[in-house]
Amino acid sequence: MLANYHTHCSHCKHAEGTVEDYVLQAIKQHFDILGMSDHVPYPHRDFGYRMDMTEIWDYINEVRYAQQQYGRQLQILLGFESEYLASQRAYYEELLDDYGAEYLVLGQHFFDYDGDYKNAYFITDTADCIRYAKTVAEGLHTGYYALLAHPDIVGVNRLPWDRNMEEMTDIIIDSAIECDVPLEINANGIRRGLVEDKLGLHYMYPHFKFWEKVAEAKVPAVVSADCHAPSLLYDNDVKRARAFAEEMGVRLIDEIT
Ligand SMILES: [Zn+2]
Ligand SMILES: [Zn+2]
Repeated sequence: MLANYHTHCSHCKHAEGTVEDYVLQAIKQHFDILGMSDHVPYPHRDFGYRMDMTEIWDYINEVRYAQQQYGRQLQILLGFESEYLASQRAYYEELLDDYGAEYLVLGQHFFDYDGDYKNAYFITDTADCIRYAKTVAEGLHTGYYALLAHPDIVGVNRLPWDRNMEEMTDIIIDSAIECDVPLEINANGIRRGLVEDKLGLHYMYPHFKFWEKVAEAKVPAVVSADCHAPSLLYDNDVKRARAFAEEMGVRLIDEIT
């Protein structure tokens, strides 16, 4: 069975292709499940790199249309990739209850930090990775999310792998187990290529130190394309991500709900 639950489209302003383009690609590549999960817009703040709040129904309607049109060839799911921001809990519930989202993927690109938000791509102190992890754990415990995207995204900061990074990993693994949410091996991290540091040559994410612990704790995982172009839905980097899972001894599952 072939599934992808982390799929973007042109609404987010940094991806190409319509919902239908991704659906046609998925059919061509014999997928069984395609979950659309474009970046969620927020009513309280424009974080950029995502659709405007006024576009949300266009996106939803495009997915609904695709479900009607292609539903017999492919199971298509309406989702969003969403941060967990404590102030937005009512909104996340609205997405699931009123907007009809079939699932949410937690992608913690920003997190609550001293009354403001911190960007997970710009962390300079590994202690802040623990704070990142604590917000992820809080998010998972709400029960809103069916999948934790790129749990080791803070790897882009190329910080030393110290005790704080170990603690971050433990917090995320423990909460994934407690909340029964699978972790994602993200092919976009593979697309960013290898880096070299004291640990040798490795991906920034998926980070082997993180996934060693995941394998040991036997947390289920999925591989996602996190594609921002239809041609990346099942490319060589997705295949490398699957090989990475196998090398690490991570157990992959196909269905997240
Ligand atoms: Zn994106
Ligand atoms: Zn993401």
